[in-house]
Amino acid sequence: MSEGYIAWRRQHISRPLLGWYRKVLPPMSDTEREAIDAGTVWWDAELFSGKPDWRKLRELPKPKLTAEERAFLDGPVEELCAMLDDWKIRHELVDLPPEVWRFIREHGFFGIIIPKEQGGLGFSALAHSSIVMKISTRSSACAVTVMVPNSLGPAELLLRYGTDEQKYQYLRRLARGDEIPCFALTGPEAGSDAASIPDTGVVCLGEFKGQRTLGMRLTWDKRYITLAPVATLLGLAFRLHDPDHLLGHGEDVGITLALIPTDTPGVEIGRRHYPAGQAFLNGPTHGKDVFVPLDYIIGGKERAGQGWRMLMEALAAGRAISLPALSTGAAKFCARNTGAYARIRRQFGVSIGKFEGIEEPLARIAANAYVLDAARQITCAAIDSGQQPSVLSAILKEHATERMRQAVNDAMDVHGGRGIIDGPRNYLFGVYQSVPVAITVEGANILTRSLIIFGQGAIRCHPHLLKEMAAAQLPDEAESLEAFDKELFAHVRGILSNTLRAFFHNLTGGFLSHTPSVPHVGWIYRRLHAAAVTFAVAVDVVLGTLGGELKRKEGLSARLGDVLSEMYLLSCVLKRFEDDGRQADDVPLAHFAGRSGLFAIQQALDGVIANLPNRPAAWFLRLIAFPLGRHRRPPKDKLVRAVASTILSPSDARDRLTSGIYVTHKTDDVTGRIEAALVAAIARDRLEEKVRAGGGAKALHEGDPDTWRAANLITAEEASALIGAKKLIRDAIMVDDFAPDALAREQAPERGNSKPAAA
Ligand SMILES: Cc1cc2nc3c(=O)[nH]c(=O)nc-3n(C[C@H](O)[C@H](O)[C@H](O)COP(=O)(O)OP(=O)(O)OC[C@H]3O[C@@H](n4cnc5c(N)ncnc54)[C@H](O)[C@@H]3O)c2cc1C
Repeated sequence: MSEGYIAWRRQHISRPLLGWYRKVLPPMSDTEREAIDAGTVWWDAELFSGKPDWRKLRELPKPKLTAEERAFLDGPVEELCAMLDDWKIRHELVDLPPEVWRFIREHGFFGIIIPKEQGGLGFSALAHSSIVMKISTRSSACAVTVMVPNSLGPAELLLRYGTDEQKYQYLRRLARGDEIPCFALTGPEAGSDAASIPDTGVVCLGEFKGQRTLGMRLTWDKRYITLAPVATLLGLAFRLHDPDHLLGHGEDVGITLALIPTDTPGVEIGRRHYPAGQAFLNGPTHGKDVFVPLDYIIGGKERAGQGWRMLMEALAAGRAISLPALSTGAAKFCARNTGAYARIRRQFGVSIGKFEGIEEPLARIAANAYVLDAARQITCAAIDSGQQPSVLSAILKEHATERMRQAVNDAMDVHGGRGIIDGPRNYLFGVYQSVPVAITVEGANILTRSLIIFGQGAIRCHPHLLKEMAAAQLPDEAESLEAFDKELFAHVRGILSNTLRAFFHNLTGGFLSHTPSVPHVGWIYRRLHAAAVTFAVAVDVVLGTLGGELKRKEGLSARLGDVLSEMYLLSCVLKRFEDDGRQADDVPLAHFAGRSGLFAIQQALDGVIANLPNRPAAWFLRLIAFPLGRHRRPPKDKLVRAVASTILSPSDARDRLTSGIYVTHKTDDVTGRIEAALVAAIARDRLEEKVRAGGGAKALHEGDPDTWRAANLITAEEASALIGAKKLIRDAIMVDDFAPDALAREQAPERGNSKPAAA
């Protein structure tokens, strides 16, 4: 390209555009910038690029636990699960029993993420996730209790930022459970807008343990803090001020994180909230003018004012592990037990799982379990390979908990009254109650969907946007124009290429796209590739016509976030299908995930186009995205039936789908009786078929095992097996009832003041 042309282009095209760009560029606060800078980008950036390189996804090593991690899951985790009686925990104790607290501490459950050298288990993200997932299928209170110290909190923050003395002082004690941590960010005034915390610290000289010390006077009012009622170590976020300039960082130092032993005079902690009927410990904490030394700041006084960045970096990985593990556990649990129950339970003389109306929620539950486990495993593998995927972690947090909500609601519908009547026999209601907690914590879902996924994704993952923004903000005008011009024209070339390719791929269903030709799922790769190119065009059209205004258009941001999220989840499904060895039994699950994911992408893109204020741009985008109209359809009834049947009887596919959850066949166990009844129901169906074949429908409907034996339709052995099976089935469908005053008596004590067992 001639120099003359470039000079002309800069002067007449790039310069005016740079002026416009600076005007529409959304103003970014320090906290927003720190959130944007946190973590890494990986497959999300490929999806944004318009030409995802599938090798990058397929090269990721297959997620795998070490022998030691597997032994821990099969040993202590299995043992812990067997100890957990959810009804007793939720209803009678409203806490974990003392022996469970002891077991958790003694076996290192509080130190999963702490390296071995510091006394912890030093496990991978995949193992961490697998442990939380398995426990959650027994008791969400126990899963949350294990999850929180290993999630965003003192241990994680110490490992990343702690001084050597702080690490030495606390990590071993945290790993052994000698210290119980909590982390307090949220307060009555600052929930989702956590950066606006009004809690303060003022740098000053004060008296500490009889010594004149440079420290901070802290005042806070926090609520909803998990483990606070029993915490011995309080992680606290507050805004630090230094009116006398003692630290040299200016007067408003910024958000700062400190670790405060809860026996420090002035720390008020111990009262309990009662969140959604759940038994995990959660409560408020307050303090007024509590004086502590500066070396209580995590990372020491050098880290004063860096708290927000530290939190955002720690969230980048943590959010991808804990709640997705819990959600996947719930979806698998629902798949296993709801499929079994639908087979056991008969109405109108037929197992309810055979009705098309029930097949639909069953298929959704199974597919959600499949998709979530794929996303959980692949994202953990990415973290274990060194990624800190901030955008993907927001996607996982929101979509895993939403799919959990859908799976649990579907499971409740299929169970009817059996899911509603609470008591020691009910394995579902506790999970149902826990759903809003997962939806709300670690970034409430509406906010995460509306603002974070696409808002953060567009800036972090877009191949040109961040570079253009950086160029536009360079202080030297000539340098700024040169850098902006270079990036702008690379961007324009990208837009033209993406637009042409998107139109062609949408006309041909991804024919000729650079995608792997994998049997059974090659068509999903091709259509997903076409969706990614279309998404890249949509992003540029939306950003180009709205600019910074997009911040206020949460509906558009949410829908674009949905497209990105569905593309990521479907990518994980494709990777999982291959990692699992392309199992023929899993083909219906992969196809269901493919069809529903592609349909959801179409719906979300259609919503973007319908709501884009610039109508000519919207018409253009519609032509590119849907040259043949909106022809994607949700899964057909035949596919729905095939997927539902995966969980209606024992099989390898069912075991693979629900692997990693706690399973027992003990007939006096809350879910063991369902497993046993499922085996019984299969035997019942087989024997009844034999009766029908031998004696006709009349014999089947009017007789019983004794008359069938007498009529030689079945043997004596079969008759007694049938009687046994019916007993197990009857036991599995029964619910609890209580003496009239039993429930009132048990609910009477003021739980907020009862002493937790961990104390
Ligand atoms: C059981 C439980 C345990 C918790 N544990 C801890 C803990 O250990 N430590 C801690 O610090 N905090 C904890 N939290 C706090 C949790 O992180 C907050 O509840 C959460 O951030 C939301 O704040 P909020 O409840 O005040 O809701 P609000 O901020 O009042 O939000 C209400 C609704 O408005 C939506 N919303 C807000 N802003 C926007 C926006 N800009 N666009 C669209 N929608 C928006 C939200 O998505 C939400 O749906 C816990 C909360 C609960 C309930």
